[in-house]
Parts: sequence; structure tokens; C-alpha cells
Amino acid sequence: MARAWSLLKGPALPGINTTVNMEDKILLGHGSGGKLSHRLLKEIIFPYFSNPILDKADDAAVFDCKGRLAFTTDSFVVQPLFFPGGDIGKLAVCGTVNDLAVMGAKPLYLTAACIVEEGFEISLLKKLIRSMAQAAKHAGVKIVGGDLKVVEKGSCDGIFINTTGIGLVPPGIKISGNNAKAGDAVIINGNIGEHGAAVMSARNDYKLKTNIKSDCAGLNHLICGILKASNKIHVMRDPTRGGVATTLNEIALQSKAQIQIEEDSLPIPEAVRGICELLGIDPLYMANEGKVLIFCPENESKKVLSAMRNDPLGRNSRIIGRVVKKDNPLVLLRTAIGSTRIMDMLTGEQLPRIC
Ligand code: MG
Repeated sequence: MARAWSLLKGPALPGINTTVNMEDKILLGHGSGGKLSHRLLKEIIFPYFSNPILDKADDAAVFDCKGRLAFTTDSFVVQPLFFPGGDIGKLAVCGTVNDLAVMGAKPLYLTAACIVEEGFEISLLKKLIRSMAQAAKHAGVKIVGGDLKVVEKGSCDGIFINTTGIGLVPPGIKISGNNAKAGDAVIINGNIGEHGAAVMSARNDYKLKTNIKSDCAGLNHLICGILKASNKIHVMRDPTRGGVATTLNEIALQSKAQIQIEEDSLPIPEAVRGICELLGIDPLYMANEGKVLIFCPENESKKVLSAMRNDPLGRNSRIIGRVVKKDNPLVLLRTAIGSTRIMDMLTGEQLPRIC
């Protein structure tokens, strides 16, 4: 790939056969920057990611951009690499697209850096690259640079992927976790906990049999519709690691606001509840990868909900709570029987390598 897709510049291993079968396994030489690396990029990566910026093959991607930019990065280490509803490649693209989109930005360009373990199946790498390309195409973003390093067997678990993204924030957009106001409605675009439940059920050590799929999806088109419907969105955030409970706590702290959630209105599928009971985890702490929490004035919520329900990723959108006052940062859950309990931030790591 382009020089913008940089390669490990270390010495190539002597005696490497550069006519290695590309259907085979990743060798240390594939990260050497030499012939094997070039062949891997030419045959597996460039054909899927090709675009005019990347194809220039320079040291960095160069593009024009006028306006306020949003810029974010994230690393993906999910295990297993393939799970119902997605894989680490799709997750790596959608995760970064969503972090840009929830700031109100139009995602433009991504870079992708892969650390691959020696012996990794090249066919699986190809599958993941294809998956990344599909997710990028769907989101309307271009992958304009990247990197591929190979580490010795045992030094990483298959593949880790980092994506960095840049997006353009239209004039007038001021979305931040600091902006929650008393009286805001808290809206979610659908079912809670599906990504965490799907990944946990795909782990062999749990031997759980379910039909849950991860909600992994790029949210930028849904969010574009929301921003067209209302210019009074105060906060948007994707409740990924740590789930809805942790994300609401972050917003409560940033905005110094008290948020009350209604247990009755939480869209938690039965299958997610089942897995959570088995694992002893509250679904509100389960990771989501295709969900967004939106805070807007109550009187804007009708048009926001209507725009959301028009999008395939927002059919099950609903109000799940409200900002009740602006002091003493706290998230309260009002239960079905009318009592309230404090929902704290996730402590420790309940679900390692969920994303
Ligand atoms: Mg986020």
C-alpha cells in the first residue's frame, strides 16, 4: 500500500521465500517492509482500500479540509475475532466512525494500523480487510493510510487493530458531554447489551448457545438524520465499554447533572437478560457497538424520535429517562415497583477484551 501504509523497516529475514502461497499464513517477513510485505499489501490490502489519496503511495495522506475537525483514535483487541453480527475489522471501523459521529462530525478519513501475530491465517486477514472496507464504504469514509506489523508467535493474540479518524464538524454544532441540561430527555436508538452478550456467547469457555447478534454498526447516517431534525441536541455518546450505566455516569459527572432512568422503559432483549443472569452482570453495564444516547430538550424529543425511527438503526428508539436536576452528579434507576437505586460507574473490568 501507499507509503502512507508504512511498513516495519527492520531487516528482512534471510532466505524468505517471496513466492509464498498467499492463502497460507502470516510470516515475520510480511512485516519486514520487503518483498513479502509489498506482495501482501498489493494482493490483500490495496485492492479493498483503494482510493485516490491512498493510491498516491506517499508517506502521509494529504487532503484539503476547511472547518472545525474532530479527531479520534481507538484500539481493538476483541476476542474472539469473529462473533455473531461482526468481527474485529468491522468493529474497528464502526467504533471510530461512531466516535466522530457522536460529536456531530461527518466522518471523512480513517487510518488503520494492524499488529498481526506470526502464523495468522492470511485468509482470515483477507476476510477482516474486506470487512473493514465494507464498513468504511457503508459509512462513506475512506481509509487513507495504515500500517502492518508482524510480531512473533505468542506476542499478540491473532490480530490487534488501531483506527484513527478525522471528521468535519458543521458550523453551529456544539455537542459535548458537558451540555446536559435539566429537563433533557435521554433517548437511545434501540436494544441494550447486544454486543457484550454476543461476544460473551461466542467465547468457547462459556459454552452459551444464543441467537444474539452484536449491534456493531456505523451510526453516522442515523446521527445525520437526528441533526437534520433538531439543532438542539445537547449530548450524544455511544455507550460502548462499561455500557449505558457507565456512559450516563460520565455525562452526569461532566455536566454536573442528576439523571434518572426508568427501568420499565429500558429495551433489554430477553436473551441478553438471560446471559447477564448467567454471568452475574447487569445488562446496563454490557457493551454496545451500535447504540447512541442522546440528550435533548423534552419538547424536541418527538421530532428526534421520529427521525430516528425512520432509520433502520433506530426503529426501536425510545426515551429511557430524563435529566432531573443540575447538581450532585448521579445516575438513578427508578425500578418497576417505584423505588430508586443509584447506578454507579463500572468498577474494575467485568468483560475484558469486549472491543
Ligand atoms: Mg465513544
